[in-house]
Amino acid sequence: MSEQDKYAVFGYPIKHSKSPRIHSLFAQQTDQNLVYTAEEVPAENFAETAKDFFKHGGCGINCTVPLKELAFKFADQLTERAQFAKAVNTLVVEIDGRVLGDNTDGVGLVRDLTVNHHIGLAGKRLLILGAGGATRGIIEPLMAENPVQIVIANRTVEKAINMAAEFANVDLPGFKNLEGLVHGCGFAELENRQFDLILNATSASLSNDLPPLPPNILAENGCCYDLAYGNEPTAFVKWGLENHAAKSLDGLGMLVEQAAEAFYLWRKVQPNTQTVINLLNSERK
Ligand code: NDP
Repeated sequence: MSEQDKYAVFGYPIKHSKSPRIHSLFAQQTDQNLVYTAEEVPAENFAETAKDFFKHGGCGINCTVPLKELAFKFADQLTERAQFAKAVNTLVVEIDGRVLGDNTDGVGLVRDLTVNHHIGLAGKRLLILGAGGATRGIIEPLMAENPVQIVIANRTVEKAINMAAEFANVDLPGFKNLEGLVHGCGFAELENRQFDLILNATSASLSNDLPPLPPNILAENGCCYDLAYGNEPTAFVKWGLENHAAKSLDGLGMLVEQAAEAFYLWRKVQPNTQTVINLLNSERK
């Protein structure tokens, strides 16, 4: 048997990562000869460990918390979406030996929303809770779907305001009237407003917590989406159900879709994501 191509996810902590499972299912499905492991890498060892991995034949790395900004700095060159996100979740060695950094989180989210769950974004009012790394990665791909408004609300208000200001001046080909599309604020400013889709990109769900949301904020037939996921519905998914969301979903589909995009970047083969999502869903019921 020929030697297997080596890939890994780096993070800290990493024990509960589903990425090795997802990528080995993709590899089986598409007949790719590769091995994908999870490596616990503290931030201070990231650059050295990544260099070593590539030096010893590693072909690609996924990076998760808290390494995405470090991976952004580590890459020799960046895709356009990684430049917008200022964070990298996928590294790949190019033919010339240089390391390319990409961010597949945003495209993963948009695919899960629009393709898997048929939630259209054009003309919609979107609210993103949280202004951390995940929010930064999803704004530009969401903007590209032509919503009428994107509000970023965050606990630390100035982070939301600064992020919105950064994206308000983004120069996207084919985009007009961007001014006013993205707005940043605190949770208190959400009183008396309504949104068609509320995305929870805070890490509150990880501690079974919920950002403070006023009543009636979800428009009729509106949907909720928590980027976090777990074996049980998250606090935000439950909130969506209690507030009559047409759909209240968690981020498992996004996880599989962002992995598929990384797999495509590495192998130039598009795996079937739905079978993997179905399998992972059946395992948590
Ligand atoms: P960061 O640490 O960069 O940001 C965390 C954000 O959550 C900050 O805006 C922070 O606010 C806010 N926050 C934390 N706790 C609370 C709370 N109790 N109430 C209100 N706001 C809170 O994390 P990331 O952006 O990297 O990740 C965010 C979430 O997205 C995580 O749950 C992560 O698992 C998920 N994710 C899922 C992916 C997927 O594929 N499904 C991909 C990437 C991320 P403040 O600024 O005030 O501290």
